[in-house]
Amino acid sequence: MCAVAAALNHMRSGAITLSQFDTAAELLGLETYMRRLLRMPFRSVAVEVPVRMDSGVFEVFRGYRVQHNGARGPCKGGIRYHPEADEGEVVGLATTMTWKTALVDIPFGGAKGGVQCDPRQLSPRELEAVTRSFTRRISIVLGPYRDIPAPDMGTNAQVMAWLLDEYSARAGYTPAVVTGKPLSLGGSLGREEATGRGVVYVMESYARDFGVPLRGSRVVIQGFGNVGAFVAQFAHELGAKVIAVTDVDGGLHHDEGLDIPRLFQHAYRERKPVAAFEGGEPISNEQLWAIPCDWLVPAALGGVISKERNALSIDCKVLVEAANSPTTPIADKIFEERGIPVLPDFLVNAGGVIVSYFEWVQNLQQHPWSLEQVNTELRRKLITAYTAVRDMANEKHVSWRTAAYVIALGRVAEAERLRGH
Ligand code: NAD
Repeated sequence: MCAVAAALNHMRSGAITLSQFDTAAELLGLETYMRRLLRMPFRSVAVEVPVRMDSGVFEVFRGYRVQHNGARGPCKGGIRYHPEADEGEVVGLATTMTWKTALVDIPFGGAKGGVQCDPRQLSPRELEAVTRSFTRRISIVLGPYRDIPAPDMGTNAQVMAWLLDEYSARAGYTPAVVTGKPLSLGGSLGREEATGRGVVYVMESYARDFGVPLRGSRVVIQGFGNVGAFVAQFAHELGAKVIAVTDVDGGLHHDEGLDIPRLFQHAYRERKPVAAFEGGEPISNEQLWAIPCDWLVPAALGGVISKERNALSIDCKVLVEAANSPTTPIADKIFEERGIPVLPDFLVNAGGVIVSYFEWVQNLQQHPWSLEQVNTELRRKLITAYTAVRDMANEKHVSWRTAAYVIALGRVAEAERLRGH
């Protein structure tokens, strides 16, 4: 599909990203041509993904790779396997990656990919076949200095290993073409927990600056996957009480704090439903939003916090966007009016892409880092970005999200101008 059609799709499905873009572009006084340039994806590839299923019949899936902007470096972003992954969603997510990489100041642009399939319905062999077929079709736009995928919803380190193998079959062994790999294939120590760890670094800094101490505070989390489970674990280690957690099937509430180490083992390591754990009152995903808390952490899907659903009734001190785009623009405005700070996704959940960057650096250097080095550098990068956003919000009297956009858009626009056209 052409870039114009992709951008139109983006306007339909990725509207969350767009309206916030406009606010920041106004504040920066960006020229009309620059706004157009930064809105549209640089390149958008749609492919068919034919796969022979275990039954013997051929299935043809739809796959996408969108490179939104590469002015600051190779494009970077995950690959998602989900039945509803369409091009509009992928464009929106690729755009967010451009702002995220710019905000935390790593030398990458933004990309995202997706295959419209339900990985839970695929056998391991079918999953591998989908991955190899998709990689063959998009490999022409990939490369360690061109576009570097990573895991996202529905994909994992094993999927990245197959992608690496398929790409390397053509280009020679190229570990830096993908991040989020298994350790034995050049993955980085600390990558698995990096996003959750980063979320809690941001919460810690906010707690220190704004007097909402983590110790003894009440945390509510939607989603107990890679992000949510590690947020729960690290927040618990710092003395916070994680009082409610849900996954796709509902979850649990316990006002004294859930037993997070055991729940982590049960739901994250053993992949069992949160609601099947003993030690709290069963709750639905809708009931989760009504629980009063200090920190509310959406860590599952986009668009879950809206005016119609919950924005007027949510009772938290700080909303911490661990998921991508969990808050609609209208809900965002409501929180501004209600005086509830929203820590924006592309700051809060940037820990994953920061450690992906470290993984790429280690692959290019052919020299692995210690876990201590990874975590020290992660904290440094994230806290630098956090401080810049905090100070910009303060200086311009704008929300944290607008401040983050102003910084990110400004950096990408500067790179575009310097490179010329
Ligand atoms: P994951 O697949 O590991 O976990 C997702 C969790 O959300 C699971 O517990 C699942 O049961 C739950 N969930 C799914 N549908 C739900 C629903 N309808 N209601 C309630 N819960 C539901 O995914 P993840 O990697 O933890 O990613 C979570 C979010 O964080 C996504 O928005 C993703 O884009 C974003 N994110 C992830 C990373 C990363 O490094 N993993 C980095 C940045 C952003």
